[in-house]
Amino acid sequence: MSLVTSLSTPSMGVNATRIAKDLEGINQFGALPQGGVTRLALSSEDMNAREYLIQEMKAAGLQVRTDAVGNIFGRREGKQNLAPVLMGSHIDTVPEGGCYDGVAGVVAALEVIRTLNDANVETERPIEVVNFTAEESSRFLSSTIGSKFMKGTLSLEKIKTMCDKDDISLYQALKDSGYDPDALETVKKQFGDYHAYIELHIEQGIVLEELGKQIGVVQAIAAPTRLAVRVVGKADHSGNTPMTMRHDALTAASELILAVEQIAKEKTGLQTVATVGNVAVKPGAMNVIPGEAQLLIDIRDINNDDKELAIKLLLQAIEEIQKRREVAITYDFLSDEKPVQLSSRISELIRNETAALNYPYYQMHSGAGHDAMNLVPITDVGMIFIPSKDGISHNIAEYSSIEDLTAGTTVLLNSMYKLAMEAVE
Ligand SMILES: [Zn+2]
Repeated sequence: MSLVTSLSTPSMGVNATRIAKDLEGINQFGALPQGGVTRLALSSEDMNAREYLIQEMKAAGLQVRTDAVGNIFGRREGKQNLAPVLMGSHIDTVPEGGCYDGVAGVVAALEVIRTLNDANVETERPIEVVNFTAEESSRFLSSTIGSKFMKGTLSLEKIKTMCDKDDISLYQALKDSGYDPDALETVKKQFGDYHAYIELHIEQGIVLEELGKQIGVVQAIAAPTRLAVRVVGKADHSGNTPMTMRHDALTAASELILAVEQIAKEKTGLQTVATVGNVAVKPGAMNVIPGEAQLLIDIRDINNDDKELAIKLLLQAIEEIQKRREVAITYDFLSDEKPVQLSSRISELIRNETAALNYPYYQMHSGAGHDAMNLVPITDVGMIFIPSKDGISHNIAEYSSIEDLTAGTTVLLNSMYKLAMEAVE
Protein backbone atom coordinates (compact mmCIF):
# COMPACT_ATOMS: atom_id res chain seq x y z
CA MET A 1 0.00 0.00 0.00
CA SER A 2 1.26 3.48 -0.81
CA LEU A 3 1.43 6.37 1.59
CA VAL A 4 -1.30 8.94 1.68
CA THR A 5 1.18 11.56 0.56
CA SER A 6 -1.38 13.76 -1.10
CA LEU A 7 -3.26 14.24 2.15
CA SER A 8 -2.62 17.65 3.64
CA THR A 9 -2.13 17.79 7.38
CA PRO A 10 -4.60 20.01 9.23
CA SER A 11 -3.02 22.85 11.11
CA MET A 12 -2.25 21.51 14.58
CA GLY A 13 0.26 22.78 17.09
CA VAL A 14 1.74 20.70 19.88
CA ASN A 15 1.97 22.41 23.24
CA ALA A 16 5.49 22.72 24.74
CA THR A 17 4.15 23.67 28.17
CA ARG A 18 2.08 20.50 28.39
CA ILE A 19 5.08 18.41 27.32
CA ALA A 20 7.22 19.99 30.06
CA LYS A 21 4.47 19.46 32.61
CA ASP A 22 4.13 15.76 31.70
CA LEU A 23 7.88 15.24 31.96
CA GLU A 24 7.90 16.83 35.38
CA GLY A 25 4.79 14.90 36.40
CA ILE A 26 6.26 11.50 35.60
CA ASN A 27 9.75 12.35 36.84
CA GLN A 28 8.54 13.26 40.32
CA PHE A 29 8.43 9.49 40.88
CA GLY A 30 11.90 8.33 41.87
CA ALA A 31 13.31 11.88 41.67
CA LEU A 32 16.79 12.19 43.20
CA PRO A 33 17.93 15.22 45.23
CA GLN A 34 20.93 15.72 42.90
CA GLY A 35 18.70 15.59 39.80
CA GLY A 36 17.79 12.62 37.63
CA VAL A 37 15.66 9.65 38.69
CA THR A 38 15.83 6.07 39.85
CA ARG A 39 12.70 4.29 38.67
CA LEU A 40 13.50 0.63 38.27
CA ALA A 41 10.99 -1.56 36.46
CA LEU A 42 8.03 -2.58 38.65
CA SER A 43 9.45 -0.78 41.69
CA SER A 44 7.08 1.30 43.83
CA GLU A 45 8.35 4.41 41.97
CA ASP A 46 7.53 2.80 38.62
CA MET A 47 4.11 1.66 39.85
CA ASN A 48 3.27 5.16 41.08
CA ALA A 49 4.43 6.68 37.80
CA ARG A 50 2.28 4.13 35.91
CA GLU A 51 -0.75 5.17 37.94
CA TYR A 52 -0.04 8.81 37.14
CA LEU A 53 0.30 7.97 33.44
CA ILE A 54 -2.99 6.06 33.45
CA GLN A 55 -4.75 9.09 34.96
CA GLU A 56 -3.21 11.38 32.32
CA MET A 57 -4.23 8.98 29.56
CA LYS A 58 -7.80 8.95 30.86
CA ALA A 59 -7.79 12.74 31.14
CA ALA A 60 -6.80 12.85 27.45
CA GLY A 61 -9.87 10.77 26.66
CA LEU A 62 -8.06 7.48 26.06
CA GLN A 63 -9.53 4.09 26.91
CA VAL A 64 -6.86 2.46 29.05
CA ARG A 65 -6.09 -1.23 29.25
CA THR A 66 -3.14 -3.01 30.83
CA ASP A 67 -2.07 -6.39 29.49
CA ALA A 68 -1.03 -9.43 31.56
CA VAL A 69 2.58 -8.25 31.85
CA GLY A 70 1.85 -4.62 32.62
CA ASN A 71 2.22 -3.02 29.18
CA ILE A 72 -0.17 -0.04 29.35
CA PHE A 73 -2.20 0.94 26.29
CA GLY A 74 -4.35 4.05 25.83
CA ARG A 75 -6.66 3.97 22.80
CA ARG A 76 -8.27 6.74 20.78
CA GLU A 77 -10.90 5.31 18.46
CA GLY A 78 -10.92 5.89 14.71
CA LYS A 79 -13.82 6.17 12.31
CA GLN A 80 -13.23 2.60 11.19
CA ASN A 81 -12.46 -0.56 13.08
CA LEU A 82 -9.05 -1.09 11.45
CA ALA A 83 -5.67 -2.12 12.86
CA PRO A 84 -4.51 0.78 15.05
CA VAL A 85 -1.33 2.78 14.72
CA LEU A 86 0.82 2.58 17.85
CA MET A 87 3.33 4.99 19.43
CA GLY A 88 5.09 5.15 22.78
CA SER A 89 8.17 4.03 24.72
CA HIS A 90 8.92 3.26 28.38
CA ILE A 91 9.00 5.08 31.72
CA ASP A 92 11.29 2.79 33.72
CA THR A 93 14.89 3.97 34.15
CA VAL A 94 18.35 2.74 35.11
CA PRO A 95 19.57 3.53 38.65
CA GLU A 96 20.51 7.23 38.81
CA GLY A 97 19.20 7.67 35.30
CA GLY A 98 18.02 10.71 33.42
CA CYS A 99 14.63 12.34 32.93
CA TYR A 100 14.31 11.75 29.17
CA ASP A 101 15.30 8.20 28.18
CA GLY A 102 11.97 6.52 27.46
CA VAL A 103 9.83 9.15 29.18
CA ALA A 104 10.29 11.50 26.21
CA GLY A 105 8.57 9.02 23.88
CA VAL A 106 5.62 8.39 26.20
CA VAL A 107 5.09 12.10 26.85
CA ALA A 108 5.35 12.90 23.12
CA ALA A 109 2.73 10.24 22.35
CA LEU A 110 0.35 11.67 24.96
CA GLU A 111 0.81 15.15 23.50
CA VAL A 112 0.00 13.85 20.01
CA ILE A 113 -3.36 12.64 21.35
CA ARG A 114 -4.11 15.92 23.09
CA THR A 115 -3.23 17.90 19.98
CA LEU A 116 -5.55 15.77 17.84
CA ASN A 117 -8.26 16.27 20.47
CA ASP A 118 -7.76 20.06 20.50
CA ALA A 119 -8.08 20.20 16.72
CA ASN A 120 -11.14 17.91 16.75
CA VAL A 121 -9.40 15.65 14.26
CA GLU A 122 -10.98 12.27 13.60
CA THR A 123 -8.74 9.64 12.07
CA GLU A 124 -9.76 6.59 10.05
CA ARG A 125 -7.76 4.22 12.25
CA PRO A 126 -7.59 4.02 16.02
CA ILE A 127 -4.40 5.40 17.58
CA GLU A 128 -2.83 3.82 20.66
CA VAL A 129 -0.23 5.05 23.14
CA VAL A 130 1.89 2.39 24.83
CA ASN A 131 4.16 2.26 27.87
CA PHE A 132 6.22 -0.94 27.72
CA THR A 133 7.13 -2.78 30.92
CA ALA A 134 10.81 -3.04 31.91
CA GLU A 135 12.68 -1.68 28.91
CA GLU A 136 15.89 -1.21 30.89
CA SER A 137 17.97 -4.26 31.80
CA SER A 138 19.00 -2.84 35.18
CA ARG A 139 16.65 -4.92 37.30
CA PHE A 140 16.19 -8.28 35.53
CA LEU A 141 19.37 -8.20 33.40
CA SER A 142 17.34 -8.37 30.22
CA SER A 143 16.17 -5.35 28.25
CA THR A 144 12.94 -4.55 26.34
CA ILE A 145 10.99 -7.13 28.34
CA GLY A 146 7.44 -5.85 27.70
CA SER A 147 7.91 -5.76 23.93
CA LYS A 148 9.61 -9.17 23.98
CA PHE A 149 6.39 -10.51 25.50
CA MET A 150 4.49 -8.92 22.61
CA LYS A 151 6.85 -10.58 20.16
CA GLY A 152 6.33 -13.84 22.04
CA THR A 153 9.95 -14.68 22.83
CA LEU A 154 9.75 -14.91 26.63
CA SER A 155 8.33 -18.07 28.15
CA LEU A 156 6.78 -18.67 31.55
CA GLU A 157 9.68 -20.97 32.52
CA LYS A 158 12.20 -18.34 31.49
CA ILE A 159 10.68 -15.47 33.49
CA LYS A 160 10.66 -17.60 36.62
CA THR A 161 14.47 -17.80 36.34
CA MET A 162 15.11 -14.12 35.58
CA CYS A 163 15.86 -12.65 39.01
CA ASP A 164 16.86 -9.26 40.37
CA LYS A 165 19.64 -8.78 42.94
CA ASP A 166 17.23 -9.61 45.78
CA ASP A 167 16.39 -12.89 44.03
CA ILE A 168 12.86 -11.78 43.11
CA SER A 169 11.97 -13.29 39.75
CA LEU A 170 10.37 -11.30 36.94
CA TYR A 171 7.42 -13.67 37.28
CA GLN A 172 7.06 -12.84 40.98
CA ALA A 173 7.56 -9.11 40.46
CA LEU A 174 4.79 -9.08 37.85
CA LYS A 175 2.49 -10.96 40.25
CA ASP A 176 3.39 -8.66 43.15
CA SER A 177 2.52 -5.69 40.92
CA GLY A 178 -0.96 -7.07 40.33
CA TYR A 179 -0.35 -8.42 36.82
CA ASP A 180 -1.03 -11.92 35.57
CA PRO A 181 2.14 -13.43 34.06
CA ASP A 182 0.48 -16.87 33.86
CA ALA A 183 -1.59 -15.40 31.03
CA LEU A 184 1.44 -14.19 29.07
CA GLU A 185 0.16 -15.94 25.93
CA THR A 186 -2.57 -13.29 25.71
CA VAL A 187 0.08 -10.57 25.35
CA LYS A 188 1.54 -11.92 22.12
CA LYS A 189 0.68 -9.97 18.96
CA GLN A 190 0.43 -11.28 15.43
CA PHE A 191 1.66 -9.66 12.23
CA GLY A 192 -1.01 -7.19 11.17
CA ASP A 193 -2.46 -6.56 14.64
CA TYR A 194 -1.03 -3.05 14.30
CA HIS A 195 -0.79 -0.90 11.19
CA ALA A 196 2.49 0.75 12.24
CA TYR A 197 4.58 1.67 15.28
CA ILE A 198 6.65 4.80 15.79
CA GLU A 199 8.84 5.44 18.83
CA LEU A 200 10.33 8.82 19.65
CA HIS A 201 13.47 8.48 21.77
CA ILE A 202 16.47 10.56 22.78
CA GLU A 203 19.52 9.71 20.70
CA GLN A 204 21.79 8.77 23.66
CA GLY A 205 24.75 9.70 21.46
CA ILE A 206 26.50 12.81 20.16
CA VAL A 207 25.83 12.56 16.43
CA LEU A 208 22.81 14.89 16.11
CA GLU A 209 24.32 17.54 18.36
CA GLU A 210 27.68 17.41 16.55
CA LEU A 211 25.99 17.75 13.17
CA GLY A 212 23.57 20.45 14.36
CA LYS A 213 20.52 18.35 13.36
CA GLN A 214 17.26 18.42 15.27
CA ILE A 215 15.72 15.13 14.14
CA GLY A 216 17.26 11.71 13.61
CA VAL A 217 15.41 9.41 11.23
CA VAL A 218 16.39 5.94 12.40
CA GLN A 219 16.78 3.26 9.76
CA ALA A 220 18.25 0.36 11.66
CA ILE A 221 19.00 -0.75 15.20
CA ALA A 222 22.38 -2.31 15.86
CA ALA A 223 22.25 -5.41 18.00
CA PRO A 224 24.93 -6.39 20.47
CA THR A 225 26.89 -9.58 20.65
CA ARG A 226 28.34 -9.86 24.13
CA LEU A 227 31.03 -12.20 25.36
CA ALA A 228 32.63 -12.94 28.69
CA VAL A 229 36.23 -14.02 28.05
CA ARG A 230 38.37 -15.72 30.69
CA VAL A 231 42.14 -15.77 30.34
CA VAL A 232 43.91 -18.19 32.66
CA GLY A 233 47.70 -18.01 33.07
CA LYS A 234 49.78 -18.67 36.14
CA ALA A 235 49.95 -16.53 39.28
CA ASP A 236 53.64 -16.51 40.20
CA HIS A 237 55.84 -14.32 42.36
CA SER A 238 56.56 -11.03 40.62
CA GLY A 239 60.14 -10.97 41.92
CA ASN A 240 61.24 -14.57 41.42
CA THR A 241 59.76 -15.30 37.99
CA PRO A 242 61.93 -14.26 35.03
CA MET A 243 60.19 -12.46 32.17
CA THR A 244 60.77 -15.42 29.85
CA MET A 245 59.04 -17.89 32.17
CA ARG A 246 55.77 -16.07 32.76
CA HIS A 247 52.20 -16.90 31.82
CA ASP A 248 50.74 -13.50 32.62
CA ALA A 249 46.97 -13.53 32.13
CA LEU A 250 46.69 -9.74 32.15
CA THR A 251 49.29 -9.03 29.47
CA ALA A 252 47.59 -11.65 27.28
CA ALA A 253 44.22 -10.02 28.01
CA SER A 254 45.73 -6.63 27.14
CA GLU A 255 46.69 -7.89 23.70
CA LEU A 256 43.15 -9.10 23.27
CA ILE A 257 41.72 -5.71 24.27
CA LEU A 258 43.85 -4.00 21.63
CA ALA A 259 42.86 -6.66 19.10
CA VAL A 260 39.17 -5.92 19.78
CA GLU A 261 39.77 -2.24 19.09
CA GLN A 262 41.79 -2.92 15.96
CA ILE A 263 39.18 -5.32 14.56
CA ALA A 264 36.38 -2.76 14.84
CA LYS A 265 38.54 0.14 13.70
CA GLU A 266 40.37 -1.38 10.76
CA LYS A 267 39.20 -4.81 9.79
CA THR A 268 35.42 -4.75 9.45
CA GLY A 269 32.71 -2.36 8.23
CA LEU A 270 32.60 1.34 9.02
CA GLN A 271 29.67 0.87 11.41
CA THR A 272 31.22 -1.79 13.64
CA VAL A 273 31.81 -0.74 17.24
CA ALA A 274 33.51 -2.99 19.77
CA THR A 275 34.25 -2.32 23.41
CA VAL A 276 35.91 -4.09 26.31
CA GLY A 277 33.98 -2.43 29.11
CA ASN A 278 35.20 -4.39 32.08
CA VAL A 279 38.35 -6.21 33.21
CA ALA A 280 38.63 -8.22 36.41
CA VAL A 281 42.08 -9.40 37.46
CA LYS A 282 42.97 -12.14 39.93
CA PRO A 283 44.56 -12.38 42.40
CA GLY A 284 44.93 -8.61 41.99
CA ALA A 285 48.01 -8.03 44.13
CA MET A 286 50.91 -5.77 43.21
CA ASN A 287 53.53 -8.46 43.77
CA VAL A 288 51.79 -11.35 42.02
CA ILE A 289 51.75 -11.99 38.28
CA PRO A 290 48.06 -12.00 37.28
CA GLY A 291 46.86 -15.60 37.06
CA GLU A 292 43.46 -14.80 35.65
CA ALA A 293 41.72 -12.00 33.79
CA GLN A 294 38.12 -11.76 32.75
CA LEU A 295 36.96 -9.38 30.01
CA LEU A 296 33.44 -8.31 29.07
CA ILE A 297 33.24 -7.56 25.35
CA ASP A 298 30.38 -5.80 23.51
CA ILE A 299 30.31 -5.80 19.69
CA ARG A 300 27.62 -4.02 17.66
CA ASP A 301 26.79 -3.38 14.05
CA ILE A 302 23.77 -2.72 11.89
CA ASN A 303 25.25 -4.99 9.25
CA ASN A 304 25.10 -8.60 10.36
CA ASP A 305 27.83 -9.79 7.96
CA ASP A 306 30.26 -7.22 9.34
CA LYS A 307 29.38 -8.17 12.89
CA GLU A 308 29.90 -11.84 12.14
CA LEU A 309 33.25 -11.03 10.56
CA ALA A 310 34.25 -9.10 13.70
CA ILE A 311 33.37 -12.10 15.86
CA LYS A 312 35.26 -14.47 13.59
CA LEU A 313 38.36 -12.24 13.78
CA LEU A 314 38.01 -11.98 17.56
CA LEU A 315 37.93 -15.78 17.90
CA GLN A 316 41.01 -16.01 15.67
CA ALA A 317 42.80 -13.46 17.85
CA ILE A 318 41.89 -15.48 20.94
CA GLU A 319 43.33 -18.61 19.33
CA GLU A 320 46.54 -16.89 18.30
CA ILE A 321 47.18 -15.11 21.64
CA GLN A 322 46.42 -18.26 23.59
CA LYS A 323 49.01 -20.24 21.64
CA ARG A 324 51.75 -17.67 21.57
CA ARG A 325 51.47 -16.67 25.22
CA GLU A 326 50.74 -20.16 26.55
CA VAL A 327 47.63 -19.22 28.46
CA ALA A 328 44.15 -20.78 28.32
CA ILE A 329 41.36 -18.59 26.97
CA THR A 330 37.70 -19.61 27.18
CA TYR A 331 34.63 -17.59 26.30
CA ASP A 332 30.85 -17.52 26.73
CA PHE A 333 28.37 -15.72 24.51
CA LEU A 334 26.15 -13.71 26.88
CA SER A 335 23.96 -12.54 24.00
CA ASP A 336 24.09 -12.69 20.24
CA GLU A 337 21.30 -10.79 18.53
CA LYS A 338 20.85 -9.84 14.93
CA PRO A 339 20.67 -6.18 13.85
CA VAL A 340 17.20 -5.01 12.89
CA GLN A 341 16.24 -2.99 9.82
CA LEU A 342 13.31 -0.66 10.38
CA SER A 343 10.61 -0.08 7.75
CA SER A 344 11.82 2.00 4.79
CA ARG A 345 8.19 3.02 4.20
CA ILE A 346 7.95 4.54 7.69
CA SER A 347 11.40 6.14 7.63
CA GLU A 348 10.49 7.74 4.28
CA LEU A 349 7.29 9.08 5.82
CA ILE A 350 9.16 10.48 8.86
CA ARG A 351 11.79 12.02 6.57
CA ASN A 352 9.12 13.68 4.38
CA GLU A 353 7.22 15.06 7.36
CA THR A 354 10.45 16.36 8.92
CA ALA A 355 11.48 18.04 5.68
CA ALA A 356 8.02 19.59 5.30
CA LEU A 357 8.42 21.10 8.77
CA ASN A 358 11.88 22.44 7.84
CA TYR A 359 13.65 20.71 10.71
CA PRO A 360 17.26 19.79 9.92
CA TYR A 361 17.45 15.99 10.00
CA TYR A 362 19.92 13.15 9.64
CA GLN A 363 19.33 9.55 8.64
CA MET A 364 21.08 7.28 11.08
CA HIS A 365 21.08 4.02 12.94
CA SER A 366 20.67 3.37 16.62
CA GLY A 367 23.60 1.88 18.49
CA ALA A 368 21.37 1.11 21.46
CA GLY A 369 18.52 -1.39 21.52
CA HIS A 370 14.89 -0.24 21.84
CA ASP A 371 11.43 -1.77 22.20
CA ALA A 372 10.93 -0.79 18.56
CA MET A 373 13.13 -3.68 17.41
CA ASN A 374 10.78 -6.25 18.94
CA LEU A 375 7.81 -4.80 17.06
CA VAL A 376 9.44 -5.38 13.66
CA PRO A 377 7.96 -8.90 13.21
CA ILE A 378 4.53 -7.49 14.13
CA THR A 379 4.25 -4.31 12.09
CA ASP A 380 6.00 -1.51 10.12
CA VAL A 381 8.30 0.24 12.58
CA GLY A 382 10.00 3.63 12.61
CA MET A 383 11.94 5.67 15.16
CA ILE A 384 12.47 9.39 15.65
CA PHE A 385 15.57 10.55 17.57
CA ILE A 386 16.03 13.94 19.20
CA PRO A 387 19.46 15.25 20.31
CA SER A 388 21.00 14.36 23.67
CA LYS A 389 23.18 17.11 25.17
CA ASP A 390 26.85 16.01 25.01
CA GLY A 391 25.57 12.53 24.09
CA ILE A 392 25.06 11.78 27.78
CA SER A 393 22.47 9.17 28.75
CA HIS A 394 21.79 6.68 31.56
CA ASN A 395 23.07 9.45 33.83
CA ILE A 396 21.46 12.23 35.85
CA ALA A 397 23.10 14.76 33.49
CA GLU A 398 20.99 13.45 30.57
CA TYR A 399 19.28 16.41 28.85
CA SER A 400 17.23 17.13 25.76
CA SER A 401 15.78 20.59 25.20
CA ILE A 402 12.06 21.24 25.22
CA GLU A 403 12.48 22.80 21.75
CA ASP A 404 13.88 19.56 20.35
CA LEU A 405 11.26 17.53 22.17
CA THR A 406 8.54 19.76 20.73
CA ALA A 407 10.01 19.41 17.23
CA GLY A 408 10.17 15.63 17.60
CA THR A 409 6.60 15.51 18.89
CA THR A 410 5.43 17.54 15.89
CA VAL A 411 7.12 15.09 13.51
CA LEU A 412 5.51 12.22 15.44
CA LEU A 413 2.11 13.93 15.26
CA ASN A 414 2.23 14.51 11.51
CA SER A 415 3.57 11.02 10.79
CA MET A 416 0.97 9.35 13.00
CA TYR A 417 -1.78 11.43 11.44
CA LYS A 418 -0.82 10.28 7.94
CA LEU A 419 -0.66 6.65 9.03
CA ALA A 420 -3.97 6.86 10.89
CA MET A 421 -5.62 8.24 7.75
CA GLU A 422 -4.53 5.25 5.64
CA ALA A 423 -7.88 3.54 5.33
CA VAL A 424 -7.34 0.89 2.66
CA GLU A 425 -6.14 -2.41 4.05
ZN1 LIG B 1 15.10 3.99 26.43
